[in-house]
Amino acid sequence: MQLILATHNKHKIKEIADVIKHPQIEVKSLLDYEVELPPETGATFIENAVVKARTVYKFLLTYQRTPPLLPRRAGIEPSHQWILADDSGLIVDALDGRPGVYSSRYSGEPVDYARNNKKLLGELAGVPKEKRTAHFICSMILIDPNGKEYEIEGRVSGRIADKESGAGGFGYDPIFYLPDRNCTIAELPLSEKSKISHRGLAAKKALEIMVKTVNGSL
Ligand code: IMP
Repeated sequence: MQLILATHNKHKIKEIADVIKHPQIEVKSLLDYEVELPPETGATFIENAVVKARTVYKFLLTYQRTPPLLPRRAGIEPSHQWILADDSGLIVDALDGRPGVYSSRYSGEPVDYARNNKKLLGELAGVPKEKRTAHFICSMILIDPNGKEYEIEGRVSGRIADKESGAGGFGYDPIFYLPDRNCTIAELPLSEKSKISHRGLAAKKALEIMVKTVNGSL
């Protein structure tokens, strides 16, 4: 079967594919299907994930009844397809939950991760480390081939460092410090980030749902 990730973001695709490794699941994304996602206007991560997942689901329904609206790039059969959409972001306690759903465009358009980090570090200047607690949240919607939706959440807690460290990951990873590991997420190899990250944990739950459903135990 196929799992279509409702994203064009190569970092997310790589991270989710690192977790959803299963001999019967072929992971595809919107780099294979030319589907345009609407702008993210939801007030919560889950609202945005629902919109992304349903946009791809509607596209596939149309696509199964009629010839494809848009050209396909890969030879993908439209049966047994699952869809997984994620919306994620950073919650900083000292900023009353900001940047939250505005994480990607926190310092304006176009999206610029380094500028976002600089803005956040500036806002937290002088805030002591015990008050720099933060959380990455990943809300996912998984849709099975019959249209049944599953809501999933993953989260990781840590604190905002006072400077950037590490070159791995993306987004706020260089300033997200993990006290247990004594490093930022950007200092972890992908395989380690996958084990502890909000997205890695949510993707693991999605994989469990798919496997249980296919085995007939859900
Ligand atoms: P979206 O889920 O595409 O709306 O993007 C959310 C934004 O949150 C990203 O552009 C990043 O700025 C941030 N973000 C989400 N997940 C991560 C992560 O794993 N590491 C670092 N930043 C992240």
